[in-house]
Amino acid sequence: MSQPAVVQYALKERSVELREIPIPQPSRGNVLLKIAAAGICGTDVHQYLNEHSWPVNLPVVMGHEFSGIVHEVGEGVRSFAPGDRVVCETAAVICGDCYYCRTGRYHFCEHRKGFGQLQDGGFTQYVQVPVRCLHRVPKNLPLHLAALTEPSCVAYHATAVAGEIKPGMSVAVLGCGTVGLICVRMAKMQGGGPIVLTGLARDKNRLQVGKQMGATHIVDMDHDDLFGLVRQIHDGHGIDVVIDVSGRNRTLKDAIDIVRPAGQIIRAGWGPGAYNFSLDPLVHKGVRLQGVFSHNWEMWERVLRLLDAGKLDLSLLSPECLPIERWQEGFEAMCESRLIKAVLEPNGRMK
Ligand SMILES: [Zn+2]
Ligand SMILES: [Zn+2]
Repeated sequence: MSQPAVVQYALKERSVELREIPIPQPSRGNVLLKIAAAGICGTDVHQYLNEHSWPVNLPVVMGHEFSGIVHEVGEGVRSFAPGDRVVCETAAVICGDCYYCRTGRYHFCEHRKGFGQLQDGGFTQYVQVPVRCLHRVPKNLPLHLAALTEPSCVAYHATAVAGEIKPGMSVAVLGCGTVGLICVRMAKMQGGGPIVLTGLARDKNRLQVGKQMGATHIVDMDHDDLFGLVRQIHDGHGIDVVIDVSGRNRTLKDAIDIVRPAGQIIRAGWGPGAYNFSLDPLVHKGVRLQGVFSHNWEMWERVLRLLDAGKLDLSLLSPECLPIERWQEGFEAMCESRLIKAVLEPNGRMK
């Protein structure tokens, strides 16, 4: 039995194609997941354009943001059964035995293999996943929105775990992709304000959605004056917490320039190329720069609670759902920022 899959096959620009691959049998401790929806992430686009800075095991089925229904369970699986609606974490493989695995911070495991990069991911109809990666989807949350739990967890990690946003603090979110937009919502929930959101001229639509998510000021970096705006906020000394989720290196320079003395910068994205600017202002301003990578089990559970309670409404992002045959359309639209989020539904719409 075979199935279509979006496969990256070379380290060259646009070396991705639809291929037929076998449907796996779930081995011990694993389930076979029937994919309902799989989000196309900025990192998928980086791989598609061959501008990523992380290792990829070729050929690989792409996609790490997916929801689905348990189709079949392997030996020894007790906590999930066929028919369960679930979302899946990104760490397909971890050692389970190192310092970080044993302390619940398995995203730092040196043996970690992520779906869609080092292990076959979710841009296909059926994927085998370990039970430890699964979370139950609240019954009123549609599966195509549940697929966006992963970027929500990155945003939660950046704002609510690493970020020290307190009520009344000013916040700037640099970058208005899915993670950036969700960061805005999280910052608002934490009582942050004003909340500044930046993007480029082509991001007009995303910036407008940012307003609905809670941004008080939106800045088109191609035309507007971010620094002039920041001088008008509170006492004019800068932003308390700057969250950089642009995936571009030069944005860190903006973050350093607008953060207030003794403020905090959270950087939750990365990009290729060198950082050609001085980090001295970090010292001079006594600023904390904190990297944020991935997420863990507890963050997933908390985000799912927020989604269940309707406190985080992902329908505002209006994800564009496409059948797997139209994968390329989705990738190209994400490359050009024409969509906030494209989601593949390889088995059609599932409830
Ligand atoms: Zn992602
Ligand atoms: Zn480990």
